[in-house]
Amino acid sequence: VDPLPRPTNPRVFVVANQKGGVGKTTTTVNVAAALAMGGLHVLVIDLDPQGNASTALGVDHHRGVPGTYEVIINGESIADLAVVSPEAPNLRVLPATVDLAGAEIELVSVVARENRLRRAITKYLKTAEVDYIFFDCPPSLGLLTLNALVGAQEILIPIQCEYYALEGVSQLMNTISLVKGELNDELELSTVLLTMYDARTRLAAQVADEVRGYFAEQTLPSVIPRSVRISEAPSYGQTVLTYQPDSAGAKSYLEAAREIARRGAVDGTPSQEA
Ligand code: ADP
Ligand code: MG
Repeated sequence: VDPLPRPTNPRVFVVANQKGGVGKTTTTVNVAAALAMGGLHVLVIDLDPQGNASTALGVDHHRGVPGTYEVIINGESIADLAVVSPEAPNLRVLPATVDLAGAEIELVSVVARENRLRRAITKYLKTAEVDYIFFDCPPSLGLLTLNALVGAQEILIPIQCEYYALEGVSQLMNTISLVKGELNDELELSTVLLTMYDARTRLAAQVADEVRGYFAEQTLPSVIPRSVRISEAPSYGQTVLTYQPDSAGAKSYLEAAREIARRGAVDGTPSQEA
C-alpha cells in the first residue's frame, strides 16, 4: 500500500446510519485498516454491543475484556484499553463487549451523559500519536450514537445502493443538526460512501445518482462493490485487505481510504478550520 498523506490535525469520524446492515462496520474496519496500511495511526472505537468491528479486526471482545464500556461508564482511559489489531501495528481497537448494551440504559442517569466519549477522546488526542479515529455505531440513534456524534468532527455515512437507500437519512440529518446546534458545533457531514454497489443492476446506478444529487460534495468518487470476499472476511477475523488483497472489494476500500486521506490533507479538515 502506498503511503498516505497525514492530516494536518487528527480527524475524528463517526460512521453512522441508524439503519442496520448498510455497511457501517464493514466500512469502518476496512477504511481504518487501509489508512493504517498506508502508514497512518488509526484508532477504531467499537460502539456496537455486538462487537462486529472488534471481530473483524481480530480483537478479543468476550465478556470481561475491558473496552468501550469501561471508558464510557467508568471513565477509564482509551490509551490503557485500546489493543493493537493484527491487521496493522499502527491500528488500535477499543473493543466492545455485550456489556455495552447495558451502557445505553445506564447512561440515562449518568452526569454529562452525552459528553463521556468526548472527554475520553480529548484526553487521548493530547497524549497518543493518532491521525484518524473512527467510531463504529450501533444501528440506532440512542445515547451511544449520541456520544459518538458529540465526540466526533466528521460524519461518514455509508449508503447501501438498494431500495429505500435514503430512508432514514433525513432523520439522521435532523439529529446531526440538533447535535450541531446544541452539543457539538464542529460536527460536519463530510463523507458519503456508496456501498454494496451491484454494477449489473439499473437500480444501483439510479440510487447512486440520487445520492450524488443530494450529497454532491460529500459523496466519494469511488463506490464499494457488492462482493462475497468482503462479506467473508470477518469470519476469518480479518479485513478484506488482508483476506483477499487483490480482490475488487479490497481495491475499492483502498481507493476510498486514499480519497478520504487526500481530502483531509489538501484542504485541511473543513470541520476543524471552521
Ligand atoms: P452495519 O454495520 O451497518 O450493520 P455491516 O457492515 O455489518 O452493516 O454489513 C451488513 C452485512 O452486509 C454483513 O454481513 C456484511 O458482511 C455484508 N456486507 C457489507 N458490505 C458488503 C459488500 N460490499 N458486499 C457484500 N456484502 C457486504
Ligand atoms: Mg455494524
